[in-house]
Amino acid sequence: MAEFTMELNDEQREVRDWLHGFAADVIRPAAAEWDEREETPWPVIQEAAKVGIYSLDFYAQQYFDPTGLGIPMAMEELFWGDAGIALSIVGTGLAAVGVLANGTEEQIGTWIPQMYGDPNDVKVAAFCSSEPDAGSDVASMRTRAVYDEAKDEWVINGTKTWATNGGIANVHVVVAVVEPELGSKGHASFIVPPDTPGLSQGQKFKKHGIRASHTAEVILDHVRVPGSCLLGGKEKLDERLARAREKAKASGGDRVKNAAMATFEASRPAVGAMAVGTARAAYEVALDYARTREQFGRPIIDNQGVAFQLADMRTQIDAARLLVWRASWMAINGKPFTAAEGSMSKLFASETAKKVTAQAVQILGGNGYTREYPVERMHRDSAIYTIFEGTSEIQRLVIARTLSGMQIR
Ligand SMILES: Cc1cc2nc3c(=O)[nH]c(=O)nc-3n(C[C@H](O)[C@H](O)[C@H](O)COP(=O)(O)OP(=O)(O)OC[C@H]3O[C@@H](n4cnc5c(N)ncnc54)[C@H](O)[C@@H]3O)c2cc1C
Repeated sequence: MAEFTMELNDEQREVRDWLHGFAADVIRPAAAEWDEREETPWPVIQEAAKVGIYSLDFYAQQYFDPTGLGIPMAMEELFWGDAGIALSIVGTGLAAVGVLANGTEEQIGTWIPQMYGDPNDVKVAAFCSSEPDAGSDVASMRTRAVYDEAKDEWVINGTKTWATNGGIANVHVVVAVVEPELGSKGHASFIVPPDTPGLSQGQKFKKHGIRASHTAEVILDHVRVPGSCLLGGKEKLDERLARAREKAKASGGDRVKNAAMATFEASRPAVGAMAVGTARAAYEVALDYARTREQFGRPIIDNQGVAFQLADMRTQIDAARLLVWRASWMAINGKPFTAAEGSMSKLFASETAKKVTAQAVQILGGNGYTREYPVERMHRDSAIYTIFEGTSEIQRLVIARTLSGMQIR
């Protein structure tokens, strides 16, 4: 087990500097354009693939870093560059992690390379869980997967929504209900291979922020996938369902509850790190501006009213990073999240990003309110962090339930 440390080692520092260079030289200059275009920034993804940032190797290296700091460090730097473009770059990694965590070796070897494509022909992947009537309440998911034993195929029907890269992905990872009586314990994940008939894109959403990242509905109409596309395989699923049935029987036949509430502790710090990246970017712009903008014959930072805001902004960003790093270290070392520390880090960092970017807009005055300055975009982008991967209210629910041991509603 790696000791908890607040210092990056030499190798991590090198990676961080390399990522920062890419974020500053390639991502940041392209940010305003792709935000306005509201399209996937394919040329930037391709550039990231060429230098090795958009690849499974890079993602896996950070993911398995024994200090736990690889992923938060990488997320912070890329999202410092720009949140929409960075999400387009890391969105595939989020889908790939689902396969890495639950797939067999064969599934990992077959599907993950197809998620990324190659630097001359880059592809993206999508993770499709949310539905129009199943957002925070994952257990009310309706998309159904039924096993056709004669053909050893699964038939999937339903509508997914809010899928990052949905419809434009080469590979979709789709969560579906296989045994409705078991609530979220009766869910399973499936690979939908490229060009599978029946999968189509529904509406593409026009969003408030992270507009360079594609978000859309995904329609599944009698989608047939081979038995080998069930992540983890049928035997493992049958065992898991049998255990869940036993538990449901023991609890008096109640639908097994779980939903978004008690999961994702380990993946939430990564979203916290994205928020830290955006907050830090806005803070830096505001600090620079406050030093140079003069009113009443002196720089505006000369006023405590402005300087104290910057002091608070920086303090909260550093506190957010510490929570994120602690939770990431706990996750890689298999420490139990006895106080929902993963949710805590995401809650604090995402709320911090919203607050800090709003303060940055204020410090830039009229300029902060225009698209001539990046804080306007950063402020719009930051609103996503308190929504996806569990809203702030859901994080509070998870933390409160973990602390109290009660089913607080
Ligand atoms: C840009 C974007 C990208 C996304 N990418 C993906 C993706 O790639 N894959 C995917 O599967 N999903 C994705 N999502 C979906 C995202 O995870 C959901 O939007 C989120 O979980 C919230 O669900 P909802 O939108 O249905 O809101 P709802 O669940 O309807 O919540 C609405 C409001 O009610 C509150 N609320 C709900 N229940 C409770 C409760 N019990 N107590 C207190 N308050 C409550 C919420 O906090 C929120 O404020 C994405 C969403 C967006 C906007």
